Amino acid sequence: MQHSLPEEFWRDIAPIANVFKPDAKPEVHIANAATDDGRFYVPISETVSSRPLWISPSENKWADILRAEGPGVINRHYHPHEVFAFTLSGKWSYLEHEWTAEAGDFVYETPGESHTLVAHHHPAPMRVFFIVKGPLIWLDEAGKSVGHFDVHDYIELARAHYQKVGLGAAYVDTLFR
Ligand code: FE
Repeated sequence: MQHSLPEEFWRDIAPIANVFKPDAKPEVHIANAATDDGRFYVPISETVSSRPLWISPSENKWADILRAEGPGVINRHYHPHEVFAFTLSGKWSYLEHEWTAEAGDFVYETPGESHTLVAHHHPAPMRVFFIVKGPLIWLDEAGKSVGHFDVHDYIELARAHYQKVGLGAAYVDTLFR
């Protein structure tokens, strides 16, 4: 807990006694979520990695920090569901749109959108907070479906990665809600 100065006006307000409903799961707090510690980032492509922060298997949904050290790409894919993004550092865009996103930029991807994510050359790594509802449907050059990536693929990939880097596969389970 952070040290609170006496002049903080809310110091005398009592916290709620019953925080969680009996069937509710605990909250999540991850310090330094967009860490530079590479072990936390699960390779999604050869050039882009993802740190899961929150995973909902039942909703096929996750929140993560997407990261690229330099120029990178996540191959073309289709989203049947929505995606939200907030850019922390670096520069990225979709080949299909005119804009580029930099620190502070918000992006919403409409359900039914196909795109190719690219990380640009930039002094800072690309770090983007994403909320994704799966699946991603991989597309070939003609726009034909050639595979998918959903929350279960993400979990499998993350388990294998965390086991490999020594954090342990079970770390992924701590993110399930
Ligand atoms: Fe996408």
